[in-house]
Amino acid sequence: MGEIKKTVTLMDIEFINISRYSLLKKIVYPAIEENKKCFIVTANPEVVIETRDDPDFKAIVQSADYVVADGIGVVNASKFKGTPLKERVTGVDIMYDLLQYANDYKKRVFFLGASELVNKDVVKIVERDFPGVVIAGRRDGYFNRFDEEVSKLVLDSNPDIVFVALGAKRQEGWIYHNIESFDKGIFIGVGGSFDVLSGHIKRAPEIWIKFQLEWLYRLLKEPNRLKRDMKVLEFMLLHTPGIKWIMKKLGFSKTKSRSSRDGIR
Ligand code: UDP
Repeated sequence: MGEIKKTVTLMDIEFINISRYSLLKKIVYPAIEENKKCFIVTANPEVVIETRDDPDFKAIVQSADYVVADGIGVVNASKFKGTPLKERVTGVDIMYDLLQYANDYKKRVFFLGASELVNKDVVKIVERDFPGVVIAGRRDGYFNRFDEEVSKLVLDSNPDIVFVALGAKRQEGWIYHNIESFDKGIFIGVGGSFDVLSGHIKRAPEIWIKFQLEWLYRLLKEPNRLKRDMKVLEFMLLHTPGIKWIMKKLGFSKTKSRSSRDGIR
């Protein structure tokens, strides 16, 4: 096993090398108490591959205060590189911890994203399970990305924490374009976590997670993810010793540059 570093860089993305516990205790909770602003990206292999393919998205991810490794593929890649990341830090787990913290310290939380039904159910469940959380506001995720009413709704709610569940890319784009207007707040893209928290989608059972097969579980449940999972596979192949060399020899290695996809910037 290689040297332990404070950050680990994979495909130009700098991951903070910290456990979830330390990230929250040493960085995120103090930031909330000091009314600071903080942009956290939870990046899985698919996100990393997207940053390679989309320079605008790459700049957004690189602008974050912290990028955490939300995927066992990223952690494994760091090990193969000889600069191991401590652990996988998922958006859904951070969300649960932040909800517990907001519950204990009566913090204001805004829930932005997912369908109207899921968004409503998330708030219901939070009200039931985390009664100390102050619901600053909520809004479903189906709006024009430049909708100023949505930005104003979030801003006027004076949140301590903003969970943005618009799916990868879209959510980071929203945060990037809006964070300047805020004086404080933790902004984190949490992908499909509202679907999980509200019970509309089940997270993979522990055994699948243990055997690093959460991606396969999701693929079986949502076969339309296949195209996205090809990116995960590509990331794995690129970071498995020997395979990268073979792919290069076979002419599969690519350095793409294409403009930002619609819906992001
Ligand atoms: N979503 C949204 N607005 C959109 C597109 C998607 O709010 O315009 C929501 C969608 O309802 C789901 C989440 O974003 O709750 C995307 O989840 P996904 O599993 O795709 O997240 P990822 O895998 O990108 O983290």
